[in-house]
Amino acid sequence: MSLPQCRFCKAVLEHTFVDLGMFPFSNSYLRQEQISSMEPFFPLHARVCVNCFLVQLEQFEAPQGIFSEYAYFSSYSETSLNHAREYAGRAVSRFQLNRESLVVEIASNDGYLLQYFQAWGVPVLGVEPAQNVASVAEEKGIKTIAKFFGIKTAGEMIAAGRRADLIVANNVFAHVPDLFDFVSGLKLLLKPGGTIVIEVPHLLRLIQETQFDTVYHEHFSYFSFCTAKEVLQEHGLKVYDVDEIPTHGGSLRIYACHVEENSKRIEFRVPEMEGRELAAGIRELATYTSFAGRVREVKRALLEFLIHAKRAGKSIAAYGAPAKGNTLLNYCGIGKDFLDYTVDISPHKQNLFLPGTHIPIHHPDILRKTRPDYVLILPWNLRGEILGQLAYVREWGGQYVIPIPTVEVIR
Ligand SMILES: [Zn+2]
Repeated sequence: MSLPQCRFCKAVLEHTFVDLGMFPFSNSYLRQEQISSMEPFFPLHARVCVNCFLVQLEQFEAPQGIFSEYAYFSSYSETSLNHAREYAGRAVSRFQLNRESLVVEIASNDGYLLQYFQAWGVPVLGVEPAQNVASVAEEKGIKTIAKFFGIKTAGEMIAAGRRADLIVANNVFAHVPDLFDFVSGLKLLLKPGGTIVIEVPHLLRLIQETQFDTVYHEHFSYFSFCTAKEVLQEHGLKVYDVDEIPTHGGSLRIYACHVEENSKRIEFRVPEMEGRELAAGIRELATYTSFAGRVREVKRALLEFLIHAKRAGKSIAAYGAPAKGNTLLNYCGIGKDFLDYTVDISPHKQNLFLPGTHIPIHHPDILRKTRPDYVLILPWNLRGEILGQLAYVREWGGQYVIPIPTVEVIR
C-alpha cells in the first residue's frame, strides 16, 4: 500500500503522530434498532508531514456522508449563545460593519452567530451543508445556502453580487478535506479591505496537554499557528493578528486579509505566537513522534483508576456524549463493563447509543435517581461549566473524574 500524501504540500506522509486503531465515526450515534447491526470501523491514524508539519488523517468517507445530517445544533448551549452575542458586538465595532456590509459565516449551523449580526442591522449570509440545520436557520430568518463551501459556491455567491466584508469560519477549517478548494474560495469571496476570521483548535495545546481524544475521523487537519499561516499565505492571504481562546481545549482565532492590503499592520501577537511555537519545537519531528507514548500512558492511568473503582464496588456513569468522548472510550476499551450509562443535555442525543461502545445516552435526571459514585466528564474542556451544573452530585458524595490530560478526581 502506498503512503498517503500531505493534504497541503503533497509530501509523502511517512511519520506517525498517533495511531489509535480502528474506530467507528465519532458522530454516528446509534438507534436502538441499529445496535445489533454491523458498524463500519476505519483506521484512526494521524500522521505528520515532515515538510509543513500539518497533522492529518486520511479521508475515508465523502463529507456529504458525514455532515449532511449533522446532529449538533449550536443554539442548545447557553454558553455558546453568550459568546456569539459578544463576538458579534466586538466584530461590528472592530471591522466597522454597517447596513452596507455583508457578513458571511461558513458552517453557520442554525444561525446562532449570524442572528446577532442581523440584530445590529448588518446583512448576513450563512453557508451550511447540513440541510436540516440550514432549514432551522432559514426559519429564524437567517438567509442560508445549504452547500459545501469552496471555489464553486464562492463563485455562485459572487455571481449573485455578494462578496464579504467579514468571513467567519469557526470550527470548520479542521473539517475541510480539500484545503486548496476551501481557502481559494475564501480568497475569492473576500472584498478588498475585508477580513477573514478563522477559529481552529490549536495543535500546540493538543500536543502539550495530550488531548488525543480530539482526534476523530470528521477532524481531518490539526493546525499549529505556523502551518495555518503558511496555508493562508500560499493563497495570497496575510495573517495580521491572532488570539488564543479557550474553545475545544484551546483554539486559535486567526485574522487574515488580502496580502496586498496595506491598511492592516501585523500585530505583535503574530511574531510572538510564532516564537512560542518554535521554542516549543513545533518545527521538529521529535515533538510529534514522542506524542504517542504519552497517549498510551493516559490510557493506562484511566484504566487503572476505573479497574480499581470497580473492584472496590463503585458505580460509574459518564457525563456528555461529545465526539471526543467516543475517541477516548473506544481507544481505552471502556464499555458497559465500566460505565453504566452517559447523559447529555441535548434531546437530539438522548435515547441513542454511543458508536462502538454502545453505552446508552440518557437525560441527566437519571443521575439523581441512580446516584453514581463517580461521574466521568467526557467534555473535559467544559469542566468549569459542567461541574457547576452537576453540583448536586456532591449531595450523595459522588465525585467527578476528569480524564485528560491526566486522571483527576474531584470531590
Ligand atoms: Zn505537508
